[in-house]
Amino acid sequence: MTLLIAKWIWALGVIGWFVIRYPHQRRSRRTPKQRRAGGWREIVLMTISSTGLGVLPLIYVLSEQPRFANYPFSAWQGWLGAGVFAASLWMFRRTHKDLGRNWSVTLEVRQQHALVTGGVYSRVRHPMYSAFWLWALAQALLLPNWIAGPAGLVGFGTLFLLRVAREEQMMTETFGEEYRAYMARTWRVFPGIY
Ligand code: SAH
Repeated sequence: MTLLIAKWIWALGVIGWFVIRYPHQRRSRRTPKQRRAGGWREIVLMTISSTGLGVLPLIYVLSEQPRFANYPFSAWQGWLGAGVFAASLWMFRRTHKDLGRNWSVTLEVRQQHALVTGGVYSRVRHPMYSAFWLWALAQALLLPNWIAGPAGLVGFGTLFLLRVAREEQMMTETFGEEYRAYMARTWRVFPGIY
């Protein structure tokens, strides 16, 4: 495993991510909404997240900038990063399949929204965010730069921390006792940990 291969794995992972999401993105535009997104706040959070997971690592991959933050690459971190990225793509695909039409890129409720509690949603209530955490971790492992590597953890972490409680509140307002009971029997992101 060389640095060049690690960069390619990162790039292919991101492309894979978009390929998985694309059909869901298209369908989501046509699925009517009952409750719309929370405006500016969500737009700012999604910008921060995509800067950390997309813009900064892309600049590094193309130009090795910011150079002062580079450190020597080791093959083990590349292999580990590749494995974690593969796991995140698998999980991302599963969550999109399980959520189906109920998915939104932001906080919204569809007109005929169904609460999904099966498949990868049976033990964890935010498995798509688990997939994003894994992606961010894979980036930190694949890119040996102290800024571009961890940028995904910081960027997605900001979105996650400022969104997840509001999402659970929105789901509780929509599904009431059903969602409370679901929360009581599931983990948030990683079973057994959090
Ligand atoms: N937080 C979830 C979903 C992310 S997509 C995850 O990480 O897997 C965000 C949208 O999914 C929210 O706007 C909400 O409408 C919807 N959603 C979240 N949890 C859901 C569930 N268990 N069943 C159905 N829809 C859900």
